[in-house]
Amino acid sequence: MTISLQGVSVSRGIAIGQVHIIQHDQLDVREYKIRNSQLENETTRLNDAIANARQQLRAIRDHIPTSTSVDISAFIDTHLLMLEDNALTEEPKRIIKERLCNAEWALKLQRDALVNVFDEMADAYLSTRRDDVDHVVNRILRILLKQKPLLHEVPDDHLKKKVIIADDLTPADTVLMQHYGIAAFATEFGGPTSHTAILARSLGIPAIIGLHNAQRFIQNNDLAIIDGTSGTVLINPDKKTQAFYERKQKEVKRYYSSLGKLKNAPAESIDGISVELMANIELPKDFETVRNVGAKGVGLYRTEFLYMNRETPPDEEEHFETYLSVLKALRGLPLTIRTLDLGADKQVDGAGKQAGPVMSNPALGLRAIRLCLKEPELFSPQLRAILRASAFGPVRIMIPMLTNVQEMQQVLQMIDDLKAGLDAEEIDYDTDIEIGGMIEVPAAAVCADIFAKKLDFLSIGTNDLIQYTMAIDRVNDEVNYLYDPLHPAVLRLIQATIKAGKKANIPVAMCGEMAGEIEHTQLLLGLGLREFSVHPANLLEIKKIINDTDIGSLCDLTKKILNATSGAEIKVLLQELQPETA
Ligand code: PEP
Ligand code: MG
Repeated sequence: MTISLQGVSVSRGIAIGQVHIIQHDQLDVREYKIRNSQLENETTRLNDAIANARQQLRAIRDHIPTSTSVDISAFIDTHLLMLEDNALTEEPKRIIKERLCNAEWALKLQRDALVNVFDEMADAYLSTRRDDVDHVVNRILRILLKQKPLLHEVPDDHLKKKVIIADDLTPADTVLMQHYGIAAFATEFGGPTSHTAILARSLGIPAIIGLHNAQRFIQNNDLAIIDGTSGTVLINPDKKTQAFYERKQKEVKRYYSSLGKLKNAPAESIDGISVELMANIELPKDFETVRNVGAKGVGLYRTEFLYMNRETPPDEEEHFETYLSVLKALRGLPLTIRTLDLGADKQVDGAGKQAGPVMSNPALGLRAIRLCLKEPELFSPQLRAILRASAFGPVRIMIPMLTNVQEMQQVLQMIDDLKAGLDAEEIDYDTDIEIGGMIEVPAAAVCADIFAKKLDFLSIGTNDLIQYTMAIDRVNDEVNYLYDPLHPAVLRLIQATIKAGKKANIPVAMCGEMAGEIEHTQLLLGLGLREFSVHPANLLEIKKIINDTDIGSLCDLTKKILNATSGAEIKVLLQELQPETA
């Protein structure tokens, strides 16, 4: 009998193969007391385990094929960096000393403390970093507990073409298994914005998460079909179903190989309308990929990553050097630097002093531009460095989470003052540097015309705009069902922003996840969006849809959609469009 299980799709594509289940043994960590005389031995045990974990990760990094389109080693580097962090290297030693306990227990206590902090974060991306802490700590614990290396970490051919079913996978697991030639994976846990999910997309491995209780229904060697597009897993399908998916798999392969040809093609609709396709980037190392997919530049460079895994904020020089290296990698393509978007709730050590007590509604609290204006000593070095970098290549400044016009005026004034300072010191900068704002708060979208009069460009951050419009915390599982990019309120706010930009004659981009979701591309074109900033892995597919669309013919449907009363109704209307994809 065929069993069908539904999860959340994180990486598209179809795979058919035999199941290999990976069980991460529950680590049995217990406390035992040690004597003062054993203190040194216990801290040495911890040091050795960390050194060993480091070696394991370096070995994994050496397995990464150089041909992969993204810098996968950055993900492993994140774990390696954690192994250098005092939070994991020093703090457990303090706990060993204080409690006179074993290294495993000290490490477990520290892990619990860190995970609690991450759990309270409002930002989906940052909060899923808790998984990284878990993965790194478990690696060290396995070494301390002298557990055998996980089977999939022992190189051989047994994973080739297998469909991996696991409770959860680390980025390191994912890289290794791709190297061993797995066909796909599905996990019971993990978030769509976890490193593992991002990696699966970048590596092109069909993947599904949130397949709760999968291991109750699936056994080793079962035949599995993973449909990464719909998030469906079929176990032991009948012959007819298998044949259907085999055909579909071939079509998908043909489709993706045809996308490569679009790299140098312009993004232009059938009726001759040009669209700008930019890339969203997080780590400086990812900048090479921007060119690999033929993006016209970077529409969103999230700079929070400069503040992570460190104790003090980067100074102006470090900002400046980073931006210069990014400009160098981009070789003349424009770079939109989004200024710091952190909040009081996000305990990123590198943000320097914390901005007050932890809020009960952190997403509604002191974050992004609110925090930057409250702490100019955090903000000014970044702005000054961006200005200085603008003398060396095309740079734009983008301000996150603007809510009212006073905030915008304050930022513009700060930039003017910094320019005057640079003039006095005879330091070069681009005197015409463009300053734009992100439209992510409904108040700003409703008043987009006011912002459009003073700014050089706008960019719609749908991840936050949807969260705030629907009054849901974007990381809260229990209200995730309300996250709906097609809610009429969301579409009206998007349309109002695009219209305001047109009226003021300034460009309006979209850089939230919605811009990279192929099911929304034609609707966004119909609404008048002409600049998309998306994850590089999605860029060519979005280009294909644009190039296959007659935007003029979308007019009637767009009107119908804007008059619809619910997201569900709009979804049905959108099915009329059905872009031709895999
Ligand atoms: C957004 O909110 O859509 C956005 C692009 O910003 P971030 O996801 O970094 O909050
Ligand atoms: Mg945002």
